[in-house]
Amino acid sequence: NKRHSEETLLSQDEKYVWHSMRPFSPNSTIVASKANGSWVTDANGSRYLDAMAGLWCVNVGYGRKELAEAAYHQLLEMPYFPLTQTHEPAIKLAEKLNEWLNDEYVIFFSNSGSEANETSFKIARQYHEQKGEHHRFKIISRYRGYHGNTTGSLAATGQAQRKYKYEPLAHGFIHVSPPDSYRDDIHVSDPSELSSVKEVDRVMTWELSETIAAMIMEPIISGGGILVPHDGYMQAVKDVCEKHGALLIVDEVICGFGRLGKPFGFMNYGVKPDIITMAKGITSGYLPLAATAVRKEIYEAFKGEGEYDYLRHINTFGGSPAACALALKNLELMEKENLFDRSRDLGDRVLNKLTTLLQNHPYVGDVRGKGLLIGIELVKDQASKEPLEPSLVNQVVVHCKDKGVLIGKNGATVAGFNNVLALSPPLNIEVEDLDFVVHTLVDSLNNLV
Ligand code: PLP
Repeated sequence: NKRHSEETLLSQDEKYVWHSMRPFSPNSTIVASKANGSWVTDANGSRYLDAMAGLWCVNVGYGRKELAEAAYHQLLEMPYFPLTQTHEPAIKLAEKLNEWLNDEYVIFFSNSGSEANETSFKIARQYHEQKGEHHRFKIISRYRGYHGNTTGSLAATGQAQRKYKYEPLAHGFIHVSPPDSYRDDIHVSDPSELSSVKEVDRVMTWELSETIAAMIMEPIISGGGILVPHDGYMQAVKDVCEKHGALLIVDEVICGFGRLGKPFGFMNYGVKPDIITMAKGITSGYLPLAATAVRKEIYEAFKGEGEYDYLRHINTFGGSPAACALALKNLELMEKENLFDRSRDLGDRVLNKLTTLLQNHPYVGDVRGKGLLIGIELVKDQASKEPLEPSLVNQVVVHCKDKGVLIGKNGATVAGFNNVLALSPPLNIEVEDLDFVVHTLVDSLNNLV
């Protein structure tokens, strides 16, 4: 009967639901029906360990009653009110975020990571306008980075294969090389000497400093292959931005909320961003919510006397009361359960285990990560570092799924080639569950040879 219900659902799905990803096949698809902790149950009753926390977002794990209750009570109390005016849940959440941000930021709420980034581009451009610098409109971003699906955030995205049937996108977005510590600059110790840093400087110079509004970057490029940079890379990029008068926007959509072992990913690198964008983990994925945190000094520039001096940017649902109330509880849970340190420590454990167990594997080029964001780059051979064929990478993902573990794959090392396996589990995953992920993954990789 259960089998029948899953088959029926899948055929109705095929008929009515347009998914964002293809290829999509009944064999690789789960009709999820329940979830608790780090585990998801499908319509047949089979259980899977979700080592991706959904789409890198269920940071406090599934089934947290406290979060559901916070939203429920808020929905009864006051389900909706726009943030063109204000309400207490949004104020409280903005205040809480500032506890983590040293009281230095003003928060604009929206609904998704894409929107948070769009908001940041508009703020950066208008900020320069407000200051009388009318030509600063260009946004620099990195190849392989992902910043969203809307025309601006997709323009900033550095993965051509996601864009080429939708162009032209928004104007004024320019890409530079990402830091790839596995392939480039392996022996460079001075961060300002990294080729990827020098390139930012050169591009900003060639494009004319006075046309650059901002640079956007993820602390660690996640969807583009878990590219862990040199420890000094981010500060070196910030220095270059300052030299050219450009703002630094840090996209914390995946790296924030404990994923890299700190409240925000940039905190690992001692940098103070001008703008911080966040989504996903802000509610652990329970409700849609996103935020753009802006340094107070930038916000102050929007208080001019002119008719158009304020931020003309409205959305209906951003910062909805229930999402904010839930997010506040989510942040409190992260602190109470010390999930930042846990993410750091468990991440070290996984990295050590995988590095040891896979050191002689012919297809494993690199094992890297920070906190509970881990990537395993698969190559044809260690010497060429050429990406492994997609069919073999897929085989590992499917094998893991058959053994009950959901892992990710991404990379974009070469456009369209996803040769990096990804782990991004809930931060409160049980240690034995995490070890199960590691052993299943190693088993699946060993199956390839
Ligand atoms: N930025 C980064 C780094 C992301 O990984 C994503 C989504 O995966 C986004 C932005 C876009 O977020 P959303 O899908 O909520 O629009």
